[in-house]
Amino acid sequence: MSPDTQPRIKEIPFDELSVVQFFRERKDKNGRSWSVEEIKEEEAHLVPIETDSFLGCGDGRLIEASTPQIKQKYIRGPKIFGALGGFAGLLGDASKQGLVKACEILKFHGILPAVHGDNHKGIHGCGQNGVWEKNGYSQMPAMETTREDIKEIAEENGGVSVNHLNDHGEQSLDIILNPSLTAEPDNTRFIINAGTILPILKEQGKTDENILWTMTAETVEGLSDTMRTVRIIR
Ligand SMILES: [Zn+2]
Repeated sequence: MSPDTQPRIKEIPFDELSVVQFFRERKDKNGRSWSVEEIKEEEAHLVPIETDSFLGCGDGRLIEASTPQIKQKYIRGPKIFGALGGFAGLLGDASKQGLVKACEILKFHGILPAVHGDNHKGIHGCGQNGVWEKNGYSQMPAMETTREDIKEIAEENGGVSVNHLNDHGEQSLDIILNPSLTAEPDNTRFIINAGTILPILKEQGKTDENILWTMTAETVEGLSDTMRTVRIIR
């Protein structure tokens, strides 16, 4: 793997143990704890993140896209909950202007914006956006635009919209710390590329890693009443 086949992610160290500590201490609103497992990346069926791939959603369901090339660049791209919208929220500006700026920051790092729906709810198929619309995030600004606006901004800035398929079946939340590796969605796990996204957030002055861990936990807790298993992959 030569360096120019990967997104341009500056090596900014982060505290890999902060995620373990966060989830060990985390309780959901019903007082339920998380089960925390630490997995070696060799055992986690990971694939390289491709250059000019899309920032996808951590949604683990299978994907359909308008072309095989778009599908490939989506499943081989980094992932956080909410894709472009989630990233803008983590940066602290969920306005239209903030979304455009988020696209520019991604593109600077060799990543393209994306949004998604699903094959039964259309553009309303992103669970992160659903939690966000109900003001379910304690450390992110409220959603200031519609899902349609976010899709339009992604598409105007070199991005795409894809659909996830059918119903959720994820049995774990997988948090990947290697900045160059991701997982292809196969409906067994939610996928968060913390190692790719945290350095970019830090470069933008968002130095507290807990904002990403909190948004990630609040998404799963908002989507599932039962799944509380996180696997930290490093
Ligand atoms: Zn989503």
